[in-house]
Amino acid sequence: MIEAEGLTKFYGPLPAIRDVSFKVEKGEVVGFLGPNGAGKSTTIRVLTCYMPPTSGTARVDGLDCFEQSLAVRSRIGYLPENVPLYGEQTVRGFLRFAAGAKGVAGKKVEAEVRRVTGTCGLESSSHRIIGHLSKGFRQRVGLAQALLNNPSVLVLDEPTIGLDPTQIIEIRRLIQGLREDHTILLSSHVLPEVAQICQRVLIINKGQIIATDTPANLTSQLQKSAQIQVEIKGETRELASALERLNGVQKVTSAGPDSRKLIVETDRSGDLR
Ligand code: ADP
Repeated sequence: MIEAEGLTKFYGPLPAIRDVSFKVEKGEVVGFLGPNGAGKSTTIRVLTCYMPPTSGTARVDGLDCFEQSLAVRSRIGYLPENVPLYGEQTVRGFLRFAAGAKGVAGKKVEAEVRRVTGTCGLESSSHRIIGHLSKGFRQRVGLAQALLNNPSVLVLDEPTIGLDPTQIIEIRRLIQGLREDHTILLSSHVLPEVAQICQRVLIINKGQIIATDTPANLTSQLQKSAQIQVEIKGETRELASALERLNGVQKVTSAGPDSRKLIVETDRSGDLR
């Protein structure tokens, strides 16, 4: 559904991304993970037709993001990192305007605005002025705007950045609810976030894709050692030193005040049990 092939983008003399290639299949929910400045937003801006790459090609639903930009844009719901909202408009007024801009037919605008306000939990705020809303609710309005016209692909750039912990949980839950009906590419610099939402993760660093794997595999690779808890019916000290001499054991410690329990830290080369 999304195909990036050899994407390179220079800002002046500096390359922000180099030879970025990846695919996101229809119905997949993929995390785009990397530290700040890694090139996530640049890649996303190319995919959403915001700017052309210096070289390489990007396709959405088989359509070229540069040559067939209007058709691509009608298939993508995009939540940029800084959501451009008109603070003086009401939620409903803004969404009506955005629906018109996205080509929703006049007669269908009201129903479409009602649908997305419902999905994003904005019913009771729809009459409120956007500038008076909390950041979490403004983010919901941004998400509602992305859902207008029911695009098959959602591209969400750091959707929880700058939110407080409760707002983060709410927005994550909202995105989890969208997984059934959309192909999603979600950028983030937090692994636990993509682990909660995505089936697969692409990791970008210094403008290049360096890995792709499932969140579970990535998390286990990050943990350098495993822990085994052992309960002992006998002389703990002798057993602890015997365990420490085993190949693959890094450290043996007592598990708190109950001296019959030991924590054995092992490397991940095999299962010592
Ligand atoms: P991320 O989204 O992962 O934080 P970006 O794609 O925003 O990364 O940035 C990648 C690199 O490109 C960074 O070094 C950033 O400073 C640079 N960059 C981003 N936007 C511009 C721009 N408009 N002009 C010049 N350099 C930019």
